[in-house]
Amino acid sequence: MERVRHLKIRVDLHVHSVASGHAYSTVREIAEAAADKGLEAFALADHGPALPGGAHLFHFWNMRVIPRRMYGVWVLRSAEVNIVDPQGGLDLPDAALQKLDLVLAGFHPGCGYEAGTVEDNTRALLGALRHPLVDVISHPGNPNYPVDLIKLAEAAREEGKALEINNASYVYTRSGSWENDLSIVREVARRGGFLSVGSDAHIADFAGELDHAIEIIEEAGAPWDSVVNRDMETLRSFLEGRGKPFPPEEAAAGRDRY
Ligand SMILES: [Zn+2]
Ligand SMILES: [Zn+2]
Repeated sequence: MERVRHLKIRVDLHVHSVASGHAYSTVREIAEAAADKGLEAFALADHGPALPGGAHLFHFWNMRVIPRRMYGVWVLRSAEVNIVDPQGGLDLPDAALQKLDLVLAGFHPGCGYEAGTVEDNTRALLGALRHPLVDVISHPGNPNYPVDLIKLAEAAREEGKALEINNASYVYTRSGSWENDLSIVREVARRGGFLSVGSDAHIADFAGELDHAIEIIEEAGAPWDSVVNRDMETLRSFLEGRGKPFPPEEAAAGRDRY
């Protein structure tokens, strides 16, 4: 029997542009594709500077030049920062993170912290999670960096941060994520907390591709309102709770460009 998709997500919280070094679309191309697919917003979350080929610090400083909306789609100024040490240190300074609408943090190879024991990885990931400017942990179910998912889900709930269900993990990369992600969603269903859903698109064509992630959330039975990026309204409410109202006042006042 064909599965019926009850859920629709209108915001993609994880997209890479050419600034990531190994991604292939411009901001304009992504925005146009997002508009074609009926998205209300996407997070332009390029890799932090520690990843080989990742965006330079100045990329993140200068995001104020990006229009708030393109093709009618909101563009969130974001980053996917790297965990660079065993304590969960990040590769962008707080002064840069403060300027962003949304901060994702996650493990990537070649950035200064390589996978260790479950205990080591959990310590590093919780360190990043507890950084006050981090909003989302990207692909926490990555089996290449196994963590204590119960401790992670509890800490994320306490901190009011979102754990990402990353659609690309079932298509291109991080094979073996499905079971871990099911466990994460079940923990959120059991104890409360937030999930975010991202395509992790590295080319515009895949922006907004979220079907596998939605399938996991349906299968694990998490309440739909635990997903923070269902639409702009739910995203705004999450960001408000994080002390990052969107769009910021300067944008609302038309002073967001320079
Ligand atoms: Zn990533
Ligand atoms: Zn990514």
